[in-house]
Formats: sequence, structure tokens, C-alpha cells
Amino acid sequence: MLQQTQVKTVIPYWERWMRELPTLAAAAQASPAKLHKLWEGLGYYTRVRNLQRAAQQVVVQHDGRFPEDFDAILALPGIGRYTAGAICSIAFNQPKPILDGNVIRVLTRVFGITADPREKKTNTRLWQLAEGLILHASHITHHASPCSHLNQSLMELGALICTPRSPNCAACSVNRLCIARRQGLQEQLPKLAKPIKPTSRRFLAFIVERNGKLLVRQRPAGVVNAHLWEFPNVEVGAATGRARHSVRAAAPQSTNGARRTDAPYQQSDFLLSATRPVCVIKHSITRYRITLEAWRAQLADSSTGITGHWLTPNQLHRLAFTSAHKRILDAVSANASLRKRS
Ligand code: SF4
Repeated sequence: MLQQTQVKTVIPYWERWMRELPTLAAAAQASPAKLHKLWEGLGYYTRVRNLQRAAQQVVVQHDGRFPEDFDAILALPGIGRYTAGAICSIAFNQPKPILDGNVIRVLTRVFGITADPREKKTNTRLWQLAEGLILHASHITHHASPCSHLNQSLMELGALICTPRSPNCAACSVNRLCIARRQGLQEQLPKLAKPIKPTSRRFLAFIVERNGKLLVRQRPAGVVNAHLWEFPNVEVGAATGRARHSVRAAAPQSTNGARRTDAPYQQSDFLLSATRPVCVIKHSITRYRITLEAWRAQLADSSTGITGHWLTPNQLHRLAFTSAHKRILDAVSANASLRKRS
């Protein structure tokens, strides 16, 4: 859960998960629908599928007991070198290094590394430095779990003191050793390549109602947000202020009129039945800045054979939606007329 996600965001998910699936066996046996619902809103849904595969592997290959060996942990789905190192050091006090964004920032500053840490050679050097520190810590005898505490303190130092901007060097426990501080380079390290320019994308989602039920679909396997639910939607031109409400002028993005597996709808399948969208949601996924407009609509006569499920709002709230489409569902559910009929 903590991969790419802050602790404060994870806590309520963790607590809910442990109430519902308190053992590895329970996680291994849970239905995909339950897993996705527990993960709904946390993003990076590949993690939850890997988590279940890892739980199943532990049940089958390790008699249900989580392994303590680094290579056995690394062999579990969804666990790379960093996560295996974090588990081995923090949970089992083993001398295994970790290297995440926070640790990279601390190490490049303390050791005055001016090369881009994403370059292979520099990255290898950072792993070596992290390994040297944890091996050194493992020889400390007056502390019960020095490896666990060293890696946790490196992460905490990066998160709380050695922050990307305005690091609190006066309060830093390693300030006398820090080369960046001595040279006044704190704010310039780590030296990262320029981020890729964000790309705007604009989608229209269609809220189509029939007898108190709404049309939705489940995203197929193998695409982004696989197995999650969403309202029918199409990608149209990039989001610009001028194009924002000129829906008819926007051109569908499907190539040669063909429907891709992950985009089975076309704009011509729907007729808008309102002059303003129900809601406009802005969010980001990697380098994409996405604008999603949700419109009330009807199916066009030409839309025969359109795929999807017709479900009441109450049924929909039991399913796992992508975060943006969950916000649409919440906006729709706030509509009194639908609520009465659900
Ligand atoms: S002295 Fe400043 S720059 Fe150096 S590690 Fe500490 S907080 Fe970071």
C-alpha cells in the first residue's frame, strides 16, 4: 500500500483491509471484486492484484508463513529490490539496503553527489552507499534492531528534515557530515533531469439513465485500471478553456473509426440531454493532466449493440470505481430523483 503513496493516505485503507482480511489466507481467497472495493481510491491497482498473488504464493509455497529470506521475498509478485530491502531490514532487522526518493535525497546531499541519480552508474553508487551504511549499522551491538532503525531513520530524515525544498539543516542529526550543506548545495541536489512536460487530455463521460438504472462498464483485464468500473466515456480533444463546453466540435480520438479494447464507445453513441455537465473533474495520472466532463445523455438510435451493465445507484456503490468515476457516481447519487428510485 505504501508504494508511491503517503502514510497518512494509507492508514484508513490499511485499517479497513485488516478488519476485512486479517490473514494472508483471507487475502489469498478474497474475490477480486472485494479486493478492488477495499483498494478503491488508492490508485495503482496493479498493487492489489500483485498483493493477492503474493498472498497466494506464500500460502502455497511457504505454508502460509511470510518468508524472511531476501530472495524468497523478492520472488513474490509486486516486490522489487526496494520493498524486499524494506521488509527485510524493518521487519526482520537484516542488513539489506533501501533506496527510495527520500533516501536518494539524503545520500546525494550528505555525500555531495552531483550526477543525476537516475543514471545507472550513479544509481549503482547510491545502492552501494546505502549497503555500506546498513552493513556498518549491523555491527552495532548496543542497539536491539540497528538495521531496522537505520533504514527507518534515513526515510524519516528525508521525509521530515531533508525535504526537497528548504531542508531544516539546523535540526539535522548529520549536518556536520553533510557535503551539500558545507558547499551550500542543499537546494540543488539531487540533480534531476527536467521533468517531462505534462500533456492535457480531455474526456467526456456519459450518464445514461433508464428506469432508475445507469449504464456502466467494467474495464477489461490488461489495461490501466483493469477490472474497475466506470461510466461510458470517450477521449476528445485536449483540454483548453476554449473547447471546454463546445462538445460538438470535439473530435473522437479513435483511429480509423476502430474501437480499441479499452475504449469501446464513440461520441456518436450518445446524445447529450443537458446544456451543462453534471460535474467537471480534473486529475493527474503520471504526466497527463486530465479533464473529465460528466454529461447526462441518451443513447443515440445508432448505438445498438452497445456494451455495458444497467445498475441502480445502490448496486453501483457496492462496486469498485476508478477515483474520477467514483466522484461522478457520488455527484449522480446526490441527485434526489435518482436516489428516490434506487
Ligand atoms: S544537513 Fe541539510 S542537506 Fe544535509 S542531510 Fe541534513 S538536512 Fe539534508
